[in-house]
Amino acid sequence: MKIGFVGLGNMGGPMALNLIKAGHTLTVFDLSSASLARLSEAGAHTAESPAALAQGDSELIITMLPAAAHVKSVYLGDTGILANVRPGVFLIDCSTIDPLTAREVAKAAVDHGNPMLDAPVSGGTGGATAGTLTFMVGGSVNDFDLAQPILSAMGKNIVHCGNSSNGQVAKVANNMLLGISMIGVSEAMALGVSLGMEASVLAGIINTSSGRCWSSDTYNPFPGVLENAPASRGYSGGFGTDLMLKDLGLASEAARQIGQPVLLGAFAQQLYQTFSAQGNGSLDFSAIINLYRKET
Ligand code: NAD
Repeated sequence: MKIGFVGLGNMGGPMALNLIKAGHTLTVFDLSSASLARLSEAGAHTAESPAALAQGDSELIITMLPAAAHVKSVYLGDTGILANVRPGVFLIDCSTIDPLTAREVAKAAVDHGNPMLDAPVSGGTGGATAGTLTFMVGGSVNDFDLAQPILSAMGKNIVHCGNSSNGQVAKVANNMLLGISMIGVSEAMALGVSLGMEASVLAGIINTSSGRCWSSDTYNPFPGVLENAPASRGYSGGFGTDLMLKDLGLASEAARQIGQPVLLGAFAQQLYQTFSAQGNGSLDFSAIINLYRKET
């Protein structure tokens, strides 16, 4: 299939490479010439702007951009995709953005005659490279069925979450819970170790008891407990504190818009904000445990 891809960063770059590996013909655009060069070397055609890409012969255009403002400008701007694409071209936005913006952009696309899905991902840069991402997809069943074979080249769990923007709803709800659970595990691990327990023994107990969760058994924030977790390599790589902060902001904003209380989500957001303001925004989010550890 002829696919246009806009946004070739930490996630979009490896996702686009996986589409090439699966035999698709890609035309790509990014503001970064280094990212364009990497994809060009792998066999992609490059476009000079979102408008030029949209005017080309792509049957499907995928975007993977930092935040809602970028998504709005790439789709709705005067020189953006919708002003230049022919009706009928399929659109999929994989960026993590707020549900209301996702709905607004999808409505503009459908009004223009372009089917559109929101399909944010989880699985991080490792999942993007390995092609094992989870896609949370919002849109019609028919469009979901059409997109599934393409998304399968980049991920292994492709889940239809309901109507337009429900992919973003699933993503913000899950990540709000993740942000909260990481703080809970951090607090419990720091308490146990301060009371004299060996971190790995405590983690072993939690992971075979009722406190077990992904933040304790797969991504434990205490250094040395899990060899491959960011905590055991100085909190480098992984999922940055500022990205978690962005997702908690999306959850709080979505909750505000509909008057839904998210007490722990809002408190978690403030804790990550404090940690980021202390200069730790680029550390993996599990470094939040350093707010609790007496020795740090
Ligand atoms: P990134 O900053 O590495 O990449 C974004 C890319 O978009 C950059 O290459 C940038 O140059 C490009 N870009 C920005 N504005 C543009 C424009 N107007 N036109 C064309 N290109 C433009 O970000 P990322 O880590 O790849 O994340 C992308 C999205 O995926 C975000 O919404 C993020 O929240 C989400 N996400 C990230 C992770 C992760 O672990 N990094 C995990 C899940 C979801």
